[in-house]
Amino acid sequence: MGLFGGTFDPVHQGHLTAAEKVKKAFAMKAVVFIPSAVPPHKEGDRVTRAADRLAMLQLAVTGTAGFSISDCEIHRPGPSYTIDTIRFFKENTPGDTRLYWIMGHDAFLEMLTWKAYREILAQIPLIVMHRSGIEPPSTPAAGGGRVEMFIVQELSSEYRLLEDDSSYVHPSLHPIHLFRDPLPEISATRIRKKVKTGKSIRNMVPGAVEAYILEKGLYR
Ligand code: ATP
Repeated sequence: MGLFGGTFDPVHQGHLTAAEKVKKAFAMKAVVFIPSAVPPHKEGDRVTRAADRLAMLQLAVTGTAGFSISDCEIHRPGPSYTIDTIRFFKENTPGDTRLYWIMGHDAFLEMLTWKAYREILAQIPLIVMHRSGIEPPSTPAAGGGRVEMFIVQELSSEYRLLEDDSSYVHPSLHPIHLFRDPLPEISATRIRKKVKTGKSIRNMVPGAVEAYILEKGLYR
């Protein structure tokens, strides 16, 4: 089962394609989308209220086999920390279900700022998706292989890349799997900007999500 956390402000085709491809590649029965309450990294920015982000997710995933939504972060008081969510799922999922935490490489490269990030690495395997067109800030090294350098230089020098280049393994932490399939170059930031300037977001979000955004007057 893949756990896919995010702000989802709004959910878009980048998220949906990524979830579909990862689900297939890792033979998962399910992917759970987990919208954050107050995202710890986006505090101070304006984030759309949880009820709207949740409603858009519902419109986006309804009818897709194996996709579901958890509101566990929204109902937990205070900022949403990934470690708390991982603990919640580990406690509430049958022991024989393999859990993965799914994220884009931009989010992954910020991991040192996450609460108890080492504990996360000890709790759950990660799937880090390559996100095209994204130049994340504060990256530790320029040029190719930023994610790879980050893993061995910043997280732990004991990670070793498997021969097939697919995953980093560690003697005491869970593996970090790299998912390099091309994914749509879409971000929620770009969608919000387009709506604000009156441009179409067709093909960037499902039709029902586009209709919801327009009807509720979001991002204007
Ligand atoms: P924003 O532009 O507001 O920062 P976002 O488009 O990055 O939003 P989030 O909800 O913050 O969307 O992302 C949730 C997770 O999905 C993150 O791990 C992010 O890296 C990943 N993600 C978002 N868009 C894509 C994409 N197009 N391809 C792959 N991963 C993505």
